[in-house]
Amino acid sequence: MVTTETRREELKAVYTTARSCTRCPQLAATRTQVVFGAGNADADLMFVGEAPGAKEDERGLPFVGAAGKMLEDLLAGVGLSREDVFIANVLKCRPPGNRDPAPIEIENCQDYLFRQVELIQPKVICTLGNFSTKLLRGDPTGITRLHGRRERCVLGTRAVWLYPIHHPAAALYTRSLQDTLREDFARLPALLAEPAPDQPVLEPVAVALEPLPEPDDPGDETPGAEQLGLF
Ligand code: URA
Repeated sequence: MVTTETRREELKAVYTTARSCTRCPQLAATRTQVVFGAGNADADLMFVGEAPGAKEDERGLPFVGAAGKMLEDLLAGVGLSREDVFIANVLKCRPPGNRDPAPIEIENCQDYLFRQVELIQPKVICTLGNFSTKLLRGDPTGITRLHGRRERCVLGTRAVWLYPIHHPAAALYTRSLQDTLREDFARLPALLAEPAPDQPVLEPVAVALEPLPEPDDPGDETPGAEQLGLF
């Protein structure tokens, strides 16, 4: 059982490592700062976007620009706020000119996201758009086919409900996508009320033991349970 305090401390430790990350030399050279993610470390609901934009890079927080305003409105529409959820991105650094994340950058950065998921242990992960959906499903199927349908997804040792929806930035200028996004968001409260998905059964790890050496003098008494400290 992980306590809130442990979760926060461990997330801070991951952030401390991420803050000075140079795995992607171009992003490290052009970022103002790493945008690690923010919100409730105990959240049942986690959002995963694509990458920080100019505003996020400037403030060090995810989704604080126009797309963030839409995300906050959508959250408010289902009675939630930023304090109830955890918001992260596939990339922790802004790609220059807001270009798409490169495959190697996604690969370099994914450990941070997987560690965040492992520590927060959300029940539902809402992927926003194609990049996070493809990464977490490990499959190239696009958001247009997948949005609005939850599926069980095993990430590391945990199963979550993965719920892909359109990215709010994509919906900013497209009315029909906005309607779709609102409809998909409206299903979130019911999904959060469902039990968590069945967790994977972890196989016990087999350890090959060396045979014990034969005792010089086996004696004639088998030790009793109390002598071994067994109860
Ligand atoms: N778009 C994203 O995907 N993430 C942000 O943090 C902001 C905009």
